[in-house]
Amino acid sequence: MRTVYVNGDYLPEDEAKVSIFDRGFLMADGVYEVTSVLDGKLIDFAGHAARLDRSLAELDMAAPVTHDELLAIHRELVSRNGIEEGMVYLQITRGAPDDRDFAFPDPEATPSTIVLFTQNKPGLADSPVAKQGIKVISIEDIRWGRRDIKTVQLLYPSMGKMMAKKAGADDAWMIEDGHVTEGTSNNAYIVKGGKIITRPTSNDILHGITRAAVLRFAQEAQMEIEERLFTIDEAKDADEAFITSASTFVMPVVEIDGVPLGDGTPGKVAPRLREIYLDESRKAAI
Ligand code: PMP
Repeated sequence: MRTVYVNGDYLPEDEAKVSIFDRGFLMADGVYEVTSVLDGKLIDFAGHAARLDRSLAELDMAAPVTHDELLAIHRELVSRNGIEEGMVYLQITRGAPDDRDFAFPDPEATPSTIVLFTQNKPGLADSPVAKQGIKVISIEDIRWGRRDIKTVQLLYPSMGKMMAKKAGADDAWMIEDGHVTEGTSNNAYIVKGGKIITRPTSNDILHGITRAAVLRFAQEAQMEIEERLFTIDEAKDADEAFITSASTFVMPVVEIDGVPLGDGTPGKVAPRLREIYLDESRKAAI
């Protein structure tokens, strides 16, 4: 049984409790982060902590712990649960007021709720899926206008994932005004003539921590990058495509809406970027 963290306590998972009045439960009034673990160490903890601060600030929510405390909690959970490869999930909500109300509660009277738990995923880095690549479908992006805030409001991305499964694919890329925004839980890229093309950051997409690292490594490796909008038709005509996220790292995409990309295999750029990302991340892990 896992040991989890709830509001200052380390508890067995079946003893951890959150109020039914918690605004995370009633209103999706909460933010989260997922930090991956390789070799028992945290990947890009500083990036995730910085984005957490930004999400909290955008929602006028107080941070219940400092970065140092957060790091200590992450490490304690990784250690107590013996995680070598996997993830640490962190969620902070606006807490549990006495009753349900649309207005935000007074933060003095209602402290935020903080929950962390680990997910054990042996073989995460050496994934056979990464050697094969994934298939995506395209769906309309009907999410709200602040996708840069990492909220727990994940119903549409979940529905997108189910639409993909039903269509025999692995994930969905979302389309707004003809252009790809991002995957259900990842950032989206295409490769054309050796050039990596991805949507620039804005309120329309999550500013992926993996995205920032991968683009930095790509630049250091003298790869050409173009941050611009791209259409789904352009994507289907690309040589390669891939996604990035904390839990998939760099994952090749080999098919979009049933159209194979290139020769239908992962290609050269995505597998190379995955290798660089994993090597560099392991070196910098804490
Ligand atoms: N976009 C969305 C919508 C996501 O949910 C995620 C992962 N949570 C990402 C992009 C990738 O972000 P990161 O690289 O920080 O995991």
